[in-house]
Amino acid sequence: MSQEPKNRGFAGFVPLSLSEFETLTGQLSKLLSTQYAPVIIPGEAILGIEAMAAGIASPGRKILNVVTGPYGSLFGKWLERGGAEVVQVEVPFDEVVTADEIGRAIERHKPCALSFVQAEVVTGGSNPAEDILKAAREFNLITVMDSVSAVGGEALPVDAWGVDFVAVGAQKALAGPNGVSAVSISPRGWDFLESNAHAPRNSILSLLDLKPNEQGTAPVRVPPNIPTLEARALISALARVEEEGLEQVIRRHERAAASAIAGIQALGIAPWQKDSRYYSTLTTTVQIAGEPGLRIGQPIGIVAPGDGELFGQLLRINHFGANACRESVEEAIRTLAGLVNRDPEPSVEAIKKVWGE
Ligand SMILES: *Cc1c(COP(=O)(O)O)cnc(C)c1O
Repeated sequence: MSQEPKNRGFAGFVPLSLSEFETLTGQLSKLLSTQYAPVIIPGEAILGIEAMAAGIASPGRKILNVVTGPYGSLFGKWLERGGAEVVQVEVPFDEVVTADEIGRAIERHKPCALSFVQAEVVTGGSNPAEDILKAAREFNLITVMDSVSAVGGEALPVDAWGVDFVAVGAQKALAGPNGVSAVSISPRGWDFLESNAHAPRNSILSLLDLKPNEQGTAPVRVPPNIPTLEARALISALARVEEEGLEQVIRRHERAAASAIAGIQALGIAPWQKDSRYYSTLTTTVQIAGEPGLRIGQPIGIVAPGDGELFGQLLRINHFGANACRESVEEAIRTLAGLVNRDPEPSVEAIKKVWGE
């Protein structure tokens, strides 16, 4: 009997093979510079983030949650729902948090874990992750990071940084699908889940249900629930990233951000984030105050109004993924120039200069 699937022409009808699954986990380990196979999450990145919160939260556990934007705020609510005692370090959304603030908060509250968002596309800010993790390690805390909007836009060496939980998705910098994502978990992280009687089991929110076999043993079957088409699209996206080179993908995002900043400054418009050392490389946020022309209600190309409470305060330039390029940034800045009725040409020159053209 032939093992050949009948619907050869329709890739969607052929289940994900073990070798495709192993390719995918291998690509993700490489992307994150970790020796531990990340868990594939059968859904959008937000599912992996909610699963991390559900898995670590428990009555009797005090968790320090950093809020520098809406995703951090949501994470805190999920921790509370799980019965954890949540202590928050919250800063205005046009700032990021400092490692010193985190160190002081840890000393004061003595939590067992720390959670934060590495970079925020919504606010255009990027937290100093390496320093924050260093501060947390001094107190031996379990660390949890939402890196959905950082992966591919800045460094994320998971093992070198010793971070225990990292959620990633491909729909931002990696120009991949949004229907499947991943969570990287250290051995310490697994222990933290297993020692939690309140961690979900037999649930779509359960990370423990997805735990790979003991280290070293190859899986004998593909874990259930992984969306086949999305997994294949992720394999392709990660292959493209490897082909371009992760370093180069990051450099392209850095250039996109630097050129967007140069472009808005040449227009006489200010960035919304306060400190230029902590700009996200995926989005540039633009101050609306004093520029009534920038009060748009709908996105125009990659120029988008602020989300939620940030609507009317900032505009976002979404220069990530395939849009982390000179052409997209130039088009966005021409859009802004039109909105404020100013000559775009000095900005276009400034953008070209950043791209070395
Ligand atoms: C985009 C993003 C996510 C995923 O959220 P979706 O809105 O579901 O794409 C999670 N965290 C952060 C920081 C993000 O930027």
